[in-house]
Amino acid sequence: MSDTNNNTNFAEAPEGYTGAGFFATSLEKIVGLARKNSLWPLPFATSCCGIEFMATMGSTYDLSRFGSERMSFSPRQADVLMVMGTIAKKMGPVVKQVYEQMAEPRWVIAVGACATTGGIFDTYSVLQGIDRIVPVDVYVPGCPPRPEQILEGVLRVQDLAENESLRRRNSPEYQALLASYNIK
Ligand code: SF4
Repeated sequence: MSDTNNNTNFAEAPEGYTGAGFFATSLEKIVGLARKNSLWPLPFATSCCGIEFMATMGSTYDLSRFGSERMSFSPRQADVLMVMGTIAKKMGPVVKQVYEQMAEPRWVIAVGACATTGGIFDTYSVLQGIDRIVPVDVYVPGCPPRPEQILEGVLRVQDLAENESLRRRNSPEYQALLASYNIK
């Protein structure tokens, strides 16, 4: 809707102090607000779940309502790695390389049963969940998940982005998490 109808939605201001002609809050909250509403997804789609993602991007579900209409097929300009579909073990190193090329802060969503656990493919050739090679922030269940579920996953990442401490990525806990995946 255009703003001529006064239907434009604005992001809610973070907690702070307001008065005549001023608003004051913390830098962390402002950065969180900006990050939350400008997440750029990198769709790593290998099979059927990717089709659901296409529907999520379409006009009915319209992921752009949440500031994420800008798909990034370059890891260096992406915030959220969305892995959708069956990941063969041979494909695992490629997923990891894409993750490593993303700048911090970065988040990961495992979309669907295959990306989460290998799904129905309990076989020698299929990775039994992408969290064996990269840390995952949000899991979206389903085979396939509906677009509403994928949207919910993005909203949960928005929550993480909004509330994340600016220092988290430098914390010993986060460095230990990356080290446990052999990621520098
Ligand atoms: S979870 Fe189901 S729909 Fe998604 S990629 Fe696997 S088999 Fe396909």
